Amino acid sequence: MNSELEELYQQVLLDHSKRPRNYGEIGEGAVRVHGDNPSCGDEINLDVQFGEGGKVDDVKFTGQGCAISQASASMMTMKLKGKSREEATEMLRSFQDLIMKDVAEPPRMLGDLRLMQGVRKFPQRVKCAMLAWRAFEEALERVKGKGQAEVSTEADDPS
Ligand code: ZN
Repeated sequence: MNSELEELYQQVLLDHSKRPRNYGEIGEGAVRVHGDNPSCGDEINLDVQFGEGGKVDDVKFTGQGCAISQASASMMTMKLKGKSREEATEMLRSFQDLIMKDVAEPPRMLGDLRLMQGVRKFPQRVKCAMLAWRAFEEALERVKGKGQAEVSTEADDPS
């Protein structure tokens, strides 16, 4: 990463960790997933409100931990809100590729999330950056093949 990008990365990270977007709870009707990353002490509660056809109607989070985990969650919620199930799944896969593989041309759809690419070089940090996304993946799993009415909203944590 060149120094200009590095600087932008730091700014965006700081901005999102200081003023997280979509911070809060949705409550009734939302799927809640708890995720944690014991090696760093990061925690997150992700609320996802799925609409018709699995569309991401709303997504919010609360949590605590390092700047990377919280900024990644904040940026993720901005990107996922309003997306169809297919688009959201695609974004999850793209982001995962971005920080775990050597991606030459990050997809434009990722927007500012592309700045997180540098995390790839630090394996412990990959877990921080992926925390919110793993929680979202779990939320997707829970509503798989179910009607919204049957969705369990219990906050169990399998890990
Ligand atoms: Zn962390």
